[in-house]
Amino acid sequence: MNLILFGPPGAGKGTQADFISKKYGFAKLSTGDMLRAAVKSGSPLGKQAQDVMAKGQLVSDEIMINLIRERIREDDCQKGFILDGFPRTVAQAEALDQMLITEKKRLDYVIELQVDDTELTQRITGRFSCAKCGTGYHDSFKRPMKEEVCDSCGSTEFSRREDDNVSTVTKRLEAYHQQTAPLLPYYDKENILVSIDGMADIVEVTRQIEEIIGGTGKLAAQ
Ligand code: ADP
Ligand code: ADP
Ligand code: ZN
Repeated sequence: MNLILFGPPGAGKGTQADFISKKYGFAKLSTGDMLRAAVKSGSPLGKQAQDVMAKGQLVSDEIMINLIRERIREDDCQKGFILDGFPRTVAQAEALDQMLITEKKRLDYVIELQVDDTELTQRITGRFSCAKCGTGYHDSFKRPMKEEVCDSCGSTEFSRREDDNVSTVTKRLEAYHQQTAPLLPYYDKENILVSIDGMADIVEVTRQIEEIIGGTGKLAAQ
């Protein structure tokens, strides 16, 4: 099964993609994580992406499409994949559709997590993750079970993203509304869009996603 988890920055895409990927064995393809790894490695692609990301703008479609094309051919994507953060423009969505035809694959669902902008800012400015395994946390909404120890790997080192500050968040939300939200009618036309309440707590959002994957969700009922 191939899914897109769709929604504005901070909606909970990464949190849910981690969970679903572990439970169902689908590969999690997070373009934000891929780009941050490229920046960290200092590769030519990373150098190109760094400034754009720091400004809260979008990396070019060409770079993003090439990144995903290579990735979905890999073995771990054959059972299924979850796209988190891609596509973010209509051009990327069109390129993805073309790519999937060539690869003889298809998208099963685009799951939109609906969250208000004020809640998003709170989520993003309180976000941190384990420096070792990447598990995501939040200052108020998802603290580690044992203070300052990662639930997943036991590490005591955590990090915060440079672009998770109030001024960049505002620009990223603008980029979302202008360039990414137009994808909603695009996928609605393809009849694979399902929108769920992303304001609910983490466990409840997971439950809604599982309902969709299990075929008892909204789209199945339509
Ligand atoms: P969030 O999880 O807050 O939605 P991401 O980790 O997905 O943010 O993305 C971080 C940054 O990486 C974006 O602000 C953008 O600069 C870049 N980026 C990620 N995915 C894409 C994409 N599909 N197209 C263009 N830029 C992207
Ligand atoms: P995205 O990948 O869409 O940018 P994340 O999954 O990184 O979003 O979530 C953003 C922040 O909000 C993280 O700190 C995460 O722990 C927290 N979070 C995710 N889902 C929820 C939720 N349903 N309720 C409250 N906080 C959440
Ligand atoms: Zn960890």
